[in-house]
Amino acid sequence: MTNATDTAGTGDSLLHLPPDDRSVDRVRRLLRQRLTPVYGGNEAEAMTRLIFAALKGWSVTDMLIHANTILSDIFLSRLENILYRLDRHEPLQYILGQARFYGMDFTVNPSVLIPRPETEELVDIIVGNNRERKDLRVLDVGTGSGCIAIALARHLPFARVTAIDISPEALDVARENARRLKTGITFIQADILAIAKEGQPADSFDIIVSNPPYIARGEAADMDSNVLDYEPHTALFVPDDDPLRYYTPIADIARRTLSEGGQLYFEINPRYAEDIVAMLADKGFTDITVSEDISHRPRFVTAHQR
Ligand code: GLN
Repeated sequence: MTNATDTAGTGDSLLHLPPDDRSVDRVRRLLRQRLTPVYGGNEAEAMTRLIFAALKGWSVTDMLIHANTILSDIFLSRLENILYRLDRHEPLQYILGQARFYGMDFTVNPSVLIPRPETEELVDIIVGNNRERKDLRVLDVGTGSGCIAIALARHLPFARVTAIDISPEALDVARENARRLKTGITFIQADILAIAKEGQPADSFDIIVSNPPYIARGEAADMDSNVLDYEPHTALFVPDDDPLRYYTPIADIARRTLSEGGQLYFEINPRYAEDIVAMLADKGFTDITVSEDISHRPRFVTAHQR
């Protein structure tokens, strides 16, 4: 082995690998070595799989089958570019332009939040409560990538889904996802705060769901740079003195537009669970329940229209 190869694992370019040392197996190992100091071993392995899946369409089995395949210069320089960006904590989903959610691949870019596993749990709760019901009218407020709206459109039989976002760039992404994932959704560009104030009669819905911005500015100090430096702040933050900034107007809209027995679902900041429950009770919602995410933090609130 040459000197250049010996140091590849400590940060040298993959392009310095001699041609006969560019096998899939070898490069996989080097990728893991490069990523482990920054992301830890498990995450490094998961990222390596995602990279090969996105760039080559390969599963883990495919990587084993191709263990001795020699990778091209072009492929290695693409990997180098990815590593460069990962070293700077850019989220892999933005680099690859895709994120997995509820068993589907969504297109993402920095104008939308990367779909989170907690939000899959929220979809699970809604689907679990409604899987037998047909023709539900669903509204998703602050749809972002469209992940909730699309997952519900795919899993609730004949649901008619409307999705709102204030950001035209986010709606472009959501529309693209709806098209690729073959779901018909009505997208509306609107500011939910303005809609709540106008008080005009709107459509009627059986389910309203939202994962609005809910992180207080003061919490930013504890956040990772991959979130803070890359994800859209308009999708993340609320003022410290107004943590329910979006929940209250969405609840008002829900009071006006939910059908009898209609359901309201929120993903929430665990810090404000009690405040959100109190606000919903105050507005007259019934059967208000808080459920925990897999990390046992109060993360979801469900309420019903009387
Ligand atoms: N759960 C996201 C996070 O912790 C925040 C999502 C949101 O603000 N709605 O980064």
